[in-house]
Amino acid sequence: MDREEMSTVDELAAALGVAEHVRRTCGANWPVLAGLSVRWMDSLRTAGRWDQRKLTIFLNRRLYGADLRDSFLHELAHALTAANEPFRVPPHGSAWKRRARRLGANATATNFYPSLARWRREDL
Ligand SMILES: [Zn+2]
Repeated sequence: MDREEMSTVDELAAALGVAEHVRRTCGANWPVLAGLSVRWMDSLRTAGRWDQRKLTIFLNRRLYGADLRDSFLHELAHALTAANEPFRVPPHGSAWKRRARRLGANATATNFYPSLARWRREDL
């Protein structure tokens, strides 16, 4: 996976081996969510974030393996929630938690990612 290039939710889901699961879980929202942009970011503490204005998922360039998959699903749950809630809801409230669980993400606001911890130990 080329970390320099921007990709889409669809492409990253396929690269992570969760395309089928994610497509089923997102259901009718999949055609819209599939085309959303995923961009890599550099950050010391943030694993990822969903940018509602840019309709983009940002993921930490240093994440890999299970950490990358969990972070991706966490942010995708934000996008899925935004697509389904008519009003603003708390970012990690019950509407998000329900979708995060269905997507198979750790349904908490923060999570410990060994790949970022390793990076911190090495780079700081
Ligand atoms: Zn979040």
